[in-house]
Amino acid sequence: MRTVLGIESSCDETAAALVTDGRVILAQRIASQDEVHRPYGGVVPEIAARAHAERLAPLIEATLADANMRLEDVDAIAATAGPGLIGGVMVGLVTAKALAMAADKPLIAINHLEGHALSPRLADPGLEYPYLLLLVSGGHCQILGVEGVGRFRRLATTIDDALGEAFDKTAKLLGLGYPGGPAVERLAARGDARKVPLPRPLVGSDEPHFSFAGLKSAVMRAKQAMDKGAGYTEADIAASFQQAAIDCLVDRTRRALKNVGEMNALVVAGGVAANQAIRSALETLAAEHRLAFVAPPLALCTDNAAMIAWAGVERLALGQSDPLDIAARPRWPLDPDAEAVRGAGVKA
Ligand code: AMP
Ligand code: MG
Repeated sequence: MRTVLGIESSCDETAAALVTDGRVILAQRIASQDEVHRPYGGVVPEIAARAHAERLAPLIEATLADANMRLEDVDAIAATAGPGLIGGVMVGLVTAKALAMAADKPLIAINHLEGHALSPRLADPGLEYPYLLLLVSGGHCQILGVEGVGRFRRLATTIDDALGEAFDKTAKLLGLGYPGGPAVERLAARGDARKVPLPRPLVGSDEPHFSFAGLKSAVMRAKQAMDKGAGYTEADIAASFQQAAIDCLVDRTRRALKNVGEMNALVVAGGVAANQAIRSALETLAAEHRLAFVAPPLALCTDNAAMIAWAGVERLALGQSDPLDIAARPRWPLDPDAEAVRGAGVKA
């Protein structure tokens, strides 16, 4: 049995986990910075980096203690090396390098997105490559063919905003605070999704990509109309927004399924994959295509270190590790060969 210590610090979660090659999470701890950033309505990179620096070392110690292990007992140390907020990424990666050097263990630098992309295999031992992955998070909205460790084909991406960003901005407009996604989902459950007409950008389009900027602006106009007496509520806006987002996801994923080769499953991952309405719409889509549907448990969807440790387990099994001078990367696309797409805010 081999055990990997995973470290995650790319955004506003400081996390450590111990995961075995037998898919057992021996221990995991997450220190959320929600409270730290709430007054600002979003993550402040400098404050995030300081909070990671203060919290990470005691968190790793506590995680090892939870599993009754010492650093000498682990087989490798895996840390997120990007993409993300560079200050936080550097805190995690430098800590991992120091531990690897002190304990003479291999260092494995993990692409955070690969952590999300492979996490469904930690939860589901039956999930084999290749699978079609919808990766939906605060910074990304992509459809990927996952062919193996480090082998990704990007089939679609957003030409403007990520879906999590659209959820967060909708939450802000509706006065729901930060973080917005779960609050929008809760409010949507009480609303009528047919009340507010909203656009479905790029639905039915020949190109494979996503767009959410127009939807976001339409939500803003709907809120202004509501304030002037249009006959609907905040809950109706939330429900209508969520339904428009689902229609976009389903349409684009259906298009990808039509054009991609044989796949073993349809998989959803990333923070937005915590949304139950989105999960059940994708489950229906998978059933239509007689495909298995895999969505990791909620705790593996939002940022966590178990997925980083698991990506480390997969890389270690292939004999891979990284030199101690490897650099942190603020940008790090999963498919480096994917073409840039049109749109102002090109996201990798
Ligand atoms: P990540 O970028 O993977 O850390 O995911 C964070 C993003 O996921 C944020 O934009 C959240 O608003 C979003 N998110 C989290 N939970 C939900 C949810 N239940 N519904 C929609 N979005 C969510
Ligand atoms: Mg993430």
